[in-house]
Amino acid sequence: MNKISEIFGKKVFNDIVMKEKLPRDAYTALKRHIDDGTELEGSVANVIASAMKDWALENGATHFTHWFQPMTGITAEKHDSFMTPDESGSVIMNFSGKELIKGEPDASSFPSGGIRATFEARGYTAWDPSSYVFIKGNTLCIPTAFCSYGGESLDKKTPLLLSMEAINRQALRLLDILGAPASKVVTTVGPEQEYFLIPKDLYKKRKDLLFCGRTLIGSRPPKSQELDDHYFGAIKPAISDYMEDLNRELWQLGVLANTEHNEVAPSQHELAPIFSTANIAADHNQLTMEMMKKVAEKHDLVCLLHEKPFAGINGSGKHINWSIATDQGENLLKPGKAPISNTRFLLFLCAVIKAVDEYQDLLRISVASASNDHRLGGNEAPPAIISIFLGDDLLEVMEAIEAGKASVPKRDRKMDTKASVLPYIKKDTTDRNRTSPFAFTGSRFEFRMAGSMTSVSCPAYMLNTIVANSLMEFADTLEGAKDVEKAALELVKTCYARHKRIVFNGNNYSEEWLDEAKKRKLLNLRTTVDALPYFTAEKNIRLFDIHKIFTRTEVEARQSILYEEYCKIINIEALTLLDVINKDIIPAVSAYEKDLAETISMKKAAMGERIPCTTEMKLITALSRLCDDLYDKTQELETVLTKADDIQATESSARFFCDQVIPLMTEIRMLTDELEVNTSEEYWPMPSYGSLLFA
Ligand code: ADP
Ligand code: MG
Repeated sequence: MNKISEIFGKKVFNDIVMKEKLPRDAYTALKRHIDDGTELEGSVANVIASAMKDWALENGATHFTHWFQPMTGITAEKHDSFMTPDESGSVIMNFSGKELIKGEPDASSFPSGGIRATFEARGYTAWDPSSYVFIKGNTLCIPTAFCSYGGESLDKKTPLLLSMEAINRQALRLLDILGAPASKVVTTVGPEQEYFLIPKDLYKKRKDLLFCGRTLIGSRPPKSQELDDHYFGAIKPAISDYMEDLNRELWQLGVLANTEHNEVAPSQHELAPIFSTANIAADHNQLTMEMMKKVAEKHDLVCLLHEKPFAGINGSGKHINWSIATDQGENLLKPGKAPISNTRFLLFLCAVIKAVDEYQDLLRISVASASNDHRLGGNEAPPAIISIFLGDDLLEVMEAIEAGKASVPKRDRKMDTKASVLPYIKKDTTDRNRTSPFAFTGSRFEFRMAGSMTSVSCPAYMLNTIVANSLMEFADTLEGAKDVEKAALELVKTCYARHKRIVFNGNNYSEEWLDEAKKRKLLNLRTTVDALPYFTAEKNIRLFDIHKIFTRTEVEARQSILYEEYCKIINIEALTLLDVINKDIIPAVSAYEKDLAETISMKKAAMGERIPCTTEMKLITALSRLCDDLYDKTQELETVLTKADDIQATESSARFFCDQVIPLMTEIRMLTDELEVNTSEEYWPMPSYGSLLFA
């Protein structure tokens, strides 16, 4: 493989390329536009667009596209060539500033939550200059935001950009008051991405994977993850080749793909990039997911990004590591040597504690989906209850402050590795808590509830907004204080006392925590349908309004998009299940029964009535009973689904799917898995879990 430094960012119109390709004043104007939003003049935009086009053509591109993130959760692109016919019958290559800045895709087929009637099809894409333009395949991709004709946001990028502005505004105010001004504050995100890789030929034989991205049936293999032998295990050569290829693609796109390892479940892996600002991290994570799938194809593999591809085996998450930093790279969530006297750190920490406590519902909603419902609370991911892990040291600091103490006992940070050949190692200030949904990990928080398919944008814009709100209230309180230091400490003290119920350092998977959380009156929104109604709570509408993230209409639209998506997903899964059972499973079991019955007849014909044929008879009896039950249940599901025919994007529709359809699907699955255990593999119409996971 080429050296990383030689290929890194090769397909990106990054700062180095801009400096090289743009005239000095165009470069300066663009930088100003990126840094503080100074309007770009049309003539300058033309110069920039033309330089981008020349660079793209040099690098083999023929088309350009506005690359955006509609509410489908994946990215959208419509390619246009650079070609313009000239009078001589030939063509010239053109790309104008207008084409760079604004696009007008027909938006009628993207989810809008009722904002836009189909006859008002027009939508706009607007260039986001804070995320670099890049080349994918033969296309120059321009990261853009997407909105309706009326200006309502219809994508995942817009709220994220707005939330970054909101947190910047409020953090700068607070820093000013503290006498430590900065010119810009950003949030940083490092998303750890989990995924499965399975053989393509086997994948194609499973309709459930093809249509739903997850298996709807499948009995447990004799071995799965109980020996913990896959986690961090040596990576198989075929997978290693895949990872190498994937890294190369990502590095060329400027994605800082960094850590890779095998995960807990067989065939499960993880990739983590080095963190970047939230907006870039969100774009890069979308690209990463796309490349993961694309590169897998080349290796005759399929990359499954679904949160729960296999029942009974760990699903996939996306840990969103999040922090706040100045544009000078100073991490505002870094405790420093003496956190107890680090007022700035304590204020930012308390801003997060307060925000998470007050807006548990929004954080839960930011990771809510039909697919993630399978993970949360299943002892493989945090429960649906939001809480914060601070670690022993920080907890001690906060408790000391609450009790009015000015110091905490110093701890020995040396770790005794016992063996004399091993060096002394300094301990981290926090141990790990893998069960916590929101864990402080030394200088950042790790939001561990997000599912593998969740777009980084949602958790990130929620976090940015709710923390911006705390910072705003802090700044309001401290503004004009005579002794800022004293007032700040008082604020930390009262804020912690008020919101400490959200702090929990223990085992989030335990039964006791469920009871304790109830006593603390923390929300436990188990399913997406339990969580979504909170989106439009008045306090949340007000929050989004104050920080200029969404209007009421936009929040309502987003809520209805999420209801609709939920209903549609479960409907597709139910229909797929019926199809598989009726067309594949029942005929396969019948064929096996027929052969068993023929075996009995033949044995009896050869040996007379003396031969008992007990095994065959017992098997046929068991299979027949199971099949009858299965048939009844599928009939029931069909009837239930006819009632759901007219799917509305409402709470009651979603509730119907959650309460009526999912339980029936579970029953059908149990019967089918029992049938699989009792049916000869030769007859079973699709690859088993064992072959998919241990190929
Ligand atoms: P883990 O031990 O949790 O599996 P990894 O090393 O796999 O950790 O991932 C940690 C992620 O956190 C990386 O993407 C890393 O870049 C990111 N990270 C580190 N510091 C910060 C920070 N200040 N802000 C945001 N993300 C960060
Ligand atoms: Mg992690």
